[in-house]
Amino acid sequence: MRPALTIPDALFRRMISHCGSSLPHEACGLLAGTGNTVSQVYEMTNSEPSPVSYLMDPAEQFTALKEMRQKGLRLLGIYHSHPQSQAYPSPKDVSLAFYDDAVYIIVSLIERDNPEVRAFTIVTGDVDRVDIIVLSEGPAGSPDSP
Ligand SMILES: [Zn+2]
Repeated sequence: MRPALTIPDALFRRMISHCGSSLPHEACGLLAGTGNTVSQVYEMTNSEPSPVSYLMDPAEQFTALKEMRQKGLRLLGIYHSHPQSQAYPSPKDVSLAFYDDAVYIIVSLIERDNPEVRAFTIVTGDVDRVDIIVLSEGPAGSPDSP
């Protein structure tokens, strides 16, 4: 099983707020970082806005991937929102999942004030859950002690 994806709280909230601001349409974006820890969120344009699907703007996607390479970051995750359905990949999501190394994150906004965020790997049609660890940030940017 894939190790958990770790994402700082500020970036996690930024991803969710991007999804909320894109309503009633699906939002989409990329998560980059090193190891299994996200350090950057790329908000992408859904170039075919729809409440049930997305098409990531190809030029923006190209630019983001290029920037990741330049910064020595890896593409760790691909997120999109489900405004009206549960946080599980749709058949279309599964058929269009070409990045075996990335984690697919789905933000369900069925309950607008209580978004459900789940992560999956999708490899040759097989969907598996991946845990997400949200890191709260201390004053110096270090994780809070419990
Ligand atoms: Zn979807």
